[in-house]
Amino acid sequence: MSSEIEFLDTAPQSAAPIAKRIPFADKNLAIEAKGRENPSQRPIFVSRALLTRIVEHSVSDLAHEVGGVLVGGHYEDNGTDFIEIEGFLNADFADGRAASFKFTHRTWEDITRRVEREHEGKVLVGWHHSHPGYGVFLSHHDTFIHQNFFNLVWQVALVVDPLRMELGFFQWQGGRIVDCGFYLTGAPGR
Ligand SMILES: [Zn+2]
Repeated sequence: MSSEIEFLDTAPQSAAPIAKRIPFADKNLAIEAKGRENPSQRPIFVSRALLTRIVEHSVSDLAHEVGGVLVGGHYEDNGTDFIEIEGFLNADFADGRAASFKFTHRTWEDITRRVEREHEGKVLVGWHHSHPGYGVFLSHHDTFIHQNFFNLVWQVALVVDPLRMELGFFQWQGGRIVDCGFYLTGAPGR
């Protein structure tokens, strides 16, 4: 494998979830289920505004794959584990000109620094990248990245196809990476 994806000096990641009220319990929040609902999956929550910004980033280059990391938290409410995506960071130095998206060592250093500075107390809940025009799936290479660098059971992958305007999440389930639904949150009426 290319040395460009050896970024093993990741920030410390807490594996135990932090107690927090699940968004389902917030009556002021409008929640829309997207994709395939699976009762055994960890629910993933992302606000409509944030997901829109991630999609806009994917649309910014329709000729190359772009991506970055998803920042947020791994939480727990009354025995239910869930994931909340609360921000994202673009991989500014990623090699998007390669056949497929990859994180370079420099990108990883930059991201680690920015998570500490701009998202104190948050963790890397996963990563995102685009597949301009060829659909939502994890390639062999994507699976390699996920298995090696996002291998905690609550870390997820988001793939956006900015040409077909499709997107989907993937998460660990029983040692496999499977596609899964998610919950879009926002203020009611928005
Ligand atoms: Zn890919």
